[in-house]
Amino acid sequence: MASLSQKDLLSIEQLSVDDIRLVLDTAEALKEISSRAVKKVPALRGKTVINLFFEPSTRTRSSFELAEKRLSADILNFSASASSVTKGETLLDTARNLEAMSPDIIVIRHSSAGAPHLLGRECRSSVVNAGDGMHEHPTQALLDALTVRSLKGRLEGLKIAIIGDISHSRVARSDTLLFHKMGAEVWVCGPPTLVPADFHLLGARVTSLMEEAIEGADVVMMLRLQNERQKEAFIPSAREYFTLYGLSRERMRGARKNAIVMHPGPMNRGVEIESEVADADYSVILDQVANGVATRMAVLYLLSGKSGLKPARKPR
Ligand code: ASP
Repeated sequence: MASLSQKDLLSIEQLSVDDIRLVLDTAEALKEISSRAVKKVPALRGKTVINLFFEPSTRTRSSFELAEKRLSADILNFSASASSVTKGETLLDTARNLEAMSPDIIVIRHSSAGAPHLLGRECRSSVVNAGDGMHEHPTQALLDALTVRSLKGRLEGLKIAIIGDISHSRVARSDTLLFHKMGAEVWVCGPPTLVPADFHLLGARVTSLMEEAIEGADVVMMLRLQNERQKEAFIPSAREYFTLYGLSRERMRGARKNAIVMHPGPMNRGVEIESEVADADYSVILDQVANGVATRMAVLYLLSGKSGLKPARKPR
């Protein structure tokens, strides 16, 4: 059985080009299951998956849950607000207690960068990062890549413009790393206050001019302002932000013919994207959501034989 080269999926940074291709090819093959009358295969029958969400989530959480159900896994949903985390338990204690119930895979979203890595080190189960703070969101990048590859037939040589609040976005980091690894030309663009000075080290070209980012782009990916992570005012007003960095039909004319528009959601219409653009034929935002289920099915399937490869703790 094909599998990923590591026990956990923690970041795009740790994935090789071959691992990325394997996930995308597997996801492409699994897509078809979601259009069957009976949307279920027995690939994860008898396996237990725990979904551990410490941060709000709509798409990612339901996408993982559907992927797990379509693969016939037994699942346990755990949200921080309804758990002993509110009673002061540490992440590690929570994880060790869950681990004692022998899950095969733990999917975790947490507001702290590195939380999934900590679990991956301490747990026998495979750990999947469903978003850790401002660090990474690897399954989002993989589903974005699947969407682009399915529509464009390749990733190499494409111009991908990622526009918005780059500083606070884990999607911007994971997407930049992935598309750059796969040979695309990645541009990031946003107000200078919202683009880290060293982002070029991830392989991106950086500009604060939206026209330059969009010029000849094959893919225009919009990001929302992550207000919940902004501790100070980074932009004068939402209105001014839209004037400088909002995606309008007019601005899309600068992109390549047949360019597509993407957004990881949740989207703020009228702030970073004009409603007409969000609903246009060239918008593939809902394709991303559909591809998310297939991508997460692929990741879970490719990790399902990996748990238990390493002792959780030294024997006492
Ligand atoms: N849903 C994505 C995330 O969890 C993007 C966003 O929240 O803006 O990072």
